[in-house]
This record gives sequence, structure tokens and C-alpha cells, in this order.
Amino acid sequence: MRRALVEKRIIQELLGRVHIEDVVGTYVSLKRSGNSLRGLCPFHSETSPSFYVSPSKGVYYCFGCRAGGNAIKFLQEMEGKSFMEVVRELAEREGIEIPKEEFDRHRDEEEKQKFARRRRHLELLGKISEIYEKVLWQSPAGKNGRKYLEKRGIDEKIARDFRLGYAPPEGIGIESMLGKLHASLQDAQEVGLLKTGRDGKAYEIFRGRVIFPITITGGDVVAFSGRALPGTEEEEKTKYINSPESPYFRKGNILFGLPRALPHIRRNKRVIIVEGNFDVISMAQAGFENVVAPLGSALTPKHVEHLKRLDVGITLLFDGDAAGMRAAVKAGEVIIPSGISTGVALLPEGYDPHSLLIEKGKDAVEKVLDSSTELFDFLISEVSREAGDSEIERVKGLRKAWEILKQTPDDLVRVELLKKMAQAFKLNEREVRKHLGRQSDATQSYQPPNDFDDYKNAKQTRDVSFKREYEILLQAVMEYPSIAPQVFKLCKDVVEDFSVLKVLRVLADTIEQETDKQKIGTFILEEFFEREVFENNEIRDYVMSIAMNDAKLFESEDSAKKGIIDVLGKLKKEKLDREIEIINKKAKEARGKGNFDEYQKILIEKQNLCKQAKKIIF
Ligand SMILES: [Zn+2]
Repeated sequence: MRRALVEKRIIQELLGRVHIEDVVGTYVSLKRSGNSLRGLCPFHSETSPSFYVSPSKGVYYCFGCRAGGNAIKFLQEMEGKSFMEVVRELAEREGIEIPKEEFDRHRDEEEKQKFARRRRHLELLGKISEIYEKVLWQSPAGKNGRKYLEKRGIDEKIARDFRLGYAPPEGIGIESMLGKLHASLQDAQEVGLLKTGRDGKAYEIFRGRVIFPITITGGDVVAFSGRALPGTEEEEKTKYINSPESPYFRKGNILFGLPRALPHIRRNKRVIIVEGNFDVISMAQAGFENVVAPLGSALTPKHVEHLKRLDVGITLLFDGDAAGMRAAVKAGEVIIPSGISTGVALLPEGYDPHSLLIEKGKDAVEKVLDSSTELFDFLISEVSREAGDSEIERVKGLRKAWEILKQTPDDLVRVELLKKMAQAFKLNEREVRKHLGRQSDATQSYQPPNDFDDYKNAKQTRDVSFKREYEILLQAVMEYPSIAPQVFKLCKDVVEDFSVLKVLRVLADTIEQETDKQKIGTFILEEFFEREVFENNEIRDYVMSIAMNDAKLFESEDSAKKGIIDVLGKLKKEKLDREIEIINKKAKEARGKGNFDEYQKILIEKQNLCKQAKKIIF
């Protein structure tokens, strides 16, 4: 979305001038290896390099943690800056002028207004966030907020890092400052800062609360979460409140702390999920930076979908009391279908991460994390513990556990789980299968929910016999992207590899959506990163392994086209040869049975195929 604020042309000019090897080179020492540049990945810890840079395509990619993108993305992730910040800095360095209020000229008026409104809204939220922050640290009214943070053991440095603020009981006078902030009453209502009371007057939603700004990647504030001060009337009403949902804020989509934690999550290959905002902050204060929390609600499939894309493991760090265990079971149910490797770490009873850190220190938390249980084992033991000892109750528990566990996408894991369940519920495997009936048939294929990884099955359809041919096809298209739509049409009926076709189609789509064909350069690969097909790790790695080969395969577009025709000819011929082989068998059979009419027909069919095959070669 932010990208649309600057004309594409400018971004392309910028990327054309910047040398990615120089940008990356200031952080990573790159060495030539074959046809590419290679180094140790700055986004995860490793001892042998799996991080590659392609100067000709202007992109980087890590085959270890799958971080990838162009120079702008690299600086965003490396320096924790927003897209616009990086663009502005690079433009200044390269002497490119970015006109103020620059919009894509092709966008129509309505779109323009939508973007203007979004920007106005986000600016309003950003400014209000700054005011809350100022009130906390600089005004007498903020004293109670400061005292509360101190009592909770949150020091100023980390509080400022999370941009915490304070809303005094009487509010901060948002309505009266709207004019100065270039926003309307309606704006303030739409972003959830003001609400209309029964008396028709607007009043502020956050009062008498410590304020946690909720941010998205790039640093924009989209909403707030507020904790009432203890012992106040507000606290009696509700301890925590969040901004109402708005076009920018859907509670079930956002994890508190994620933008800040992202580089640490990538580096650790793990995300720790805790239950509350304060837990995230005190964990960060103690040096556990890869921590997030759902916003006062349970973990949702949307959250899990986000995390799945990061391709990291999850640790649930929950309270050890009954409520915490129930929350962990619920979270587990949501995670299981994703197949993400997950551990459950339960705190000693009576503690949350925050209080354990304060009272027993970092080591105590480290110990809890180290002793985490595999999610499957946790779920089985929880459900079996809850079930009683009688056979009826054990069978009931067994069925309940299986309802959850059978959602796991891996057949082999499911077979293992049946064994584990038998043990936990003190039944033998035959009994387990009997009680679960047909459900226990572990070979029946699990159907992932529609919105989950559409490309999951790509693996089974990979066709390795033409590996080199497919590489040539993709390389030609990457070197000369403008031919992608044509190539896709030619390949549709010939290429039998599902992944290759998907990739070609996305490249073709991207090209067709670009109105100005002159603009198409290496920039296309960057757009590609944003596409859904890239969420499949195997396809991602496959495409990038080809892209990272920096040697030019074709000197010109014409030679690329010729190369493609050669490859397609070969693939077509192989396909025809296979068909001819089948027909020869059929002919032999027909003759053997003395069915000469049939034999004649087959021979004619064969002649046609042979003619086609000849045409391809000559
Ligand atoms: Zn990496």
C-alpha cells in the first residue's frame, strides 16, 4: 500500500542506480562463488553461507531463512526502517528527486482519495501516539502512569522503545486539537479515538490508561491498547481495552510486538507467543526479543497463517495454571493444521512471564523455555489427564484428542500419534483404531482449509526428468521478462511440472498487469516476492536458486526465444514419443487379437503422431 505513494518509475530508477552488492556489502562480506555472490546471512545465525546476492537481478536471498528482496527491502529489514524512510534516504544519496505528494499518475481520483484518507488517518494516529507518549514522560498528569510502569518493573528505555504512553482520566483533549492536526471529527471516529455518547457528545475512548501503540510493518500506528491503572474505576470496568476495529486494525490479524520482533524471529528461527502486552515488553527488556502476543484474544488461524509464512517454529509460553493450560490447548488446536513445529512451555503456577522475570530473573525463564514439551505430547497428556479412569471416559477423551490431532497435515505423524495416544489412554493400538472407526485411517488425505497454502501439493507433482530444460525456460524469462506471457501460453500444454507452470503464470500475470511494457526490467523479481505463490517454500527456493545464477544464459531476447523453442521442441517430442510407444503397444494387441479394423485405425493415428513429431524437429 505504501508503495503507491511514490510513483513506480521513481522506485525503478532508484533500484536501477543502486548496486545491491554495495548496499548488502556494508553489512555482509560477500565472496564470489561460481556465478553468484555469497555470504553469511545477517538475518539468522549460521556458520556456512546460504545468503546469496545477484547483482544483475538486484536481489538477495537466503536459502536458510528465506529472507529475500531488493535493496530497499534489505535496508528496511536491516535497519528497521519503513519503506518510505529507506526510499527517501536512498533517493537523497543517489540525487533523485521525489516530488512531494507524488502519486501514481494512472490511479484514478477515487483511489487517490482513498490513499489520501489512509494517510491522513495514519498520520493522525501517529501524532496522537506521540502526544500520549509526551503526556507519560513530560507532564504532571503522567505521573501515575510512570509510577505504575515503575512498579511493574518496566524501565524507561524499553517503555520508550515500545512507544508507551499515558491517557489521563480526563483524556488529552483530542477533539479540541483536531484542527491543528488537520483531521476531522469523522476521522477521529473512524480510527477509533472518539466515540459518540448517548448525549450526542464525542468522548475519548482511552482514559486513565497506560497506552500501548499497535504498529504494523513499517512502523505506522494503526490502533491502541490501553491498560487501566490498578484500583481505579476504569479498571473495575475493564482492565484492557483495544481500539475498535477499523479498516487498518483487525484484532484477529495483528500480533502485538510483531514488527519489532520480526528480525529476531528470523534470526532465532522461532517465535515465542505469550499471553499479554506486558509480557512481550518485559521479555524484550530481559533480552528475549522474538516475542509476540495476540491482542487480548485467543490465537486465530489468521495469526497462524502469518507465522507460517515466516517458516519458523513456535513456542507457546503460557501460565501454568488451569486457565493457562486451557489457553494453550486452544492455541494448539489452531496451530495443528498448519504443521508448524511447536513447543509448549508452561510457567510455574502463580507466575506469568513478567512476574517470573522480576522475581527469579532471566535464567528461570530460560529454563522454562528449554524444558518445553512438543505440542502433540502436551495435547495428548492434557486431554488424557482431564479424562477420568473409566473406559467410557477414556474413549471419550481419545476421540476428543483425535479430533484435534487428526488435523495435522503429515500422514506419517498421524500414524505416530495413534501410537502415542494408545499409550496415554492405556489402550492398545487395535482398540484405538476400533474406537476411532474409519477416522483413524491415517492414509486418508487431510484436506487443508481453503485459505491455507494452496500450493502445498506442488511437491508431489514435481517432474525432475527435465530439470535442466525447465531451468532454461525460467532463466530465459527472468532475463527477458517481457516475453513471459508468450512463453506461458506456449508452455501450458507441454510443461507437465506444476511448480514450473505456476511460476510462469505468475510471471506472465505480473507482466500483463504492467501497463507500460518499457518499464519491465529486473524489477519484476521484486514484485514476484509479494505474490502468493512464493508462500510455498519449495517453489520459493526453486525460483531463487535459478535467479541467483548470475551468468547470463542468453545474449539477446531473440536468442532467448530460440532457446525456449528448442526446449519446448524437445519436451513436445518426448511427450509424442511416449504416446507413440503406447500406440505401438495397442497396435500389437489389436493385431494379436485379429482385430484388423482397429489395427488400421491405430496405424493412421500413429502416422499423424509421427508427422507431428517430425515437424518439431525440422
Ligand atoms: Zn538467513
